[in-house]
Amino acid sequence: MLRLIAELDAALEQRAGQQLLRRRRVVASAQGARPVVEARQTLHFGSNDYLGLAADPRVVAAAQQGAARYGVGAGASHLISGHFQPHEDLERELAAWVAPCANARALLFSTGYMANLGVITALVGREDAVFGDRLNHACLNDAALLSRADFVRYAHANVEALAARLAASRARRKLICTDAVFSMDGDLAPLPQLLDLADAHDAWLLVDDAHGFGVLGQGRDAGRGTLAHFALASERIVYMGTLGKAAGVAGAFVAAHPAVIETLLQSARSYIYTTASPPLLASALAASLALVRNDAARRERLFASIARWRAEASHLRWQLLPSVTPIQPLIIGDAGEALAVSEALWDRGIWVPAIRPPTVPPGSARLRITLSAAHSAADVDRLVAALAEIGADPPHGAAR
Ligand code: PMP
Repeated sequence: MLRLIAELDAALEQRAGQQLLRRRRVVASAQGARPVVEARQTLHFGSNDYLGLAADPRVVAAAQQGAARYGVGAGASHLISGHFQPHEDLERELAAWVAPCANARALLFSTGYMANLGVITALVGREDAVFGDRLNHACLNDAALLSRADFVRYAHANVEALAARLAASRARRKLICTDAVFSMDGDLAPLPQLLDLADAHDAWLLVDDAHGFGVLGQGRDAGRGTLAHFALASERIVYMGTLGKAAGVAGAFVAAHPAVIETLLQSARSYIYTTASPPLLASALAASLALVRNDAARRERLFASIARWRAEASHLRWQLLPSVTPIQPLIIGDAGEALAVSEALWDRGIWVPAIRPPTVPPGSARLRITLSAAHSAADVDRLVAALAEIGADPPHGAAR
């Protein structure tokens, strides 16, 4: 055997021994609360399809109409010949709606990962500094490293720690970046305080609202996301929202001051050097955003499920993290035990993937339970009952 392959095999075996091997399950139906997985129907609490839009018939019909009109492939990057009318319309709608500052513009990216790479590498470089929350999503960290700026990570949601790091920095330009809703914990970043610090230190504030866009905001602002939740606007905010979670489709956008957007268009490499996403996805998004904005009942169902779950889950054996969002993690601790609890749920027809290091810090393996507008009260009750039963006689990871 090649030495190179033997080395890989040894590392994979070690990973398996630590109960950290990742695997995929194959879904054979549409995404939703009851997907068919490995030949059986499951009750599913593991997607980011928070509003149940990923398979909504109106969104699917819009995608089909988009395909009929524009075909399936964009054929080129946006700057060459792949920027279609539905892309342009979607950017205009998102800019006007999310409006992180007056006269904001928006730019579509193929994924949130690529949007974060594009923003950070376009706005900062060698003589600059990026300040990121310790629990930020991996793609913000990767973007910071790729930018070659000094990369400072501050304790989770700790405004004082960030203030001290900013004050000590001699960097030419500073950029603070944070998940608005933390992807594995579900809590909110202290955005008003972060914006105050950005003002005080003349820094950019990159807000990654992957999990808040479509979910947070009240009344007329329902679904506008975390900036609406906190009533924030500023020319130094660079807002990144993803379109594959609550919006149910795929892709991402950045909304910001026109100078920021023009800079991204001119120099964000993950925007420039990649094929534009299929225009049919932008057509689908026009339909899904109409539902995000106008179907209040969906969000009401989601928040009713969150309230019901939190009331009932407080009696469970495992610690429930404080979260007002659809991300409701149950901390198990040991990676093997988290896997065993996930398997025990699976045996009862319930699908909740276990999240283990390095996605979360060592010793904090968890079930990342996510709720959706597609869940009923009875679905939530079934999950709680199953967890109570498993918790009464918890499985041991080491035995597996
Ligand atoms: N930011 C955060 C906070 C995320 O959770 C994710 C996806 N899990 C992303 C960015 C990346 O978005 P996308 O899946 O569109 O690449």
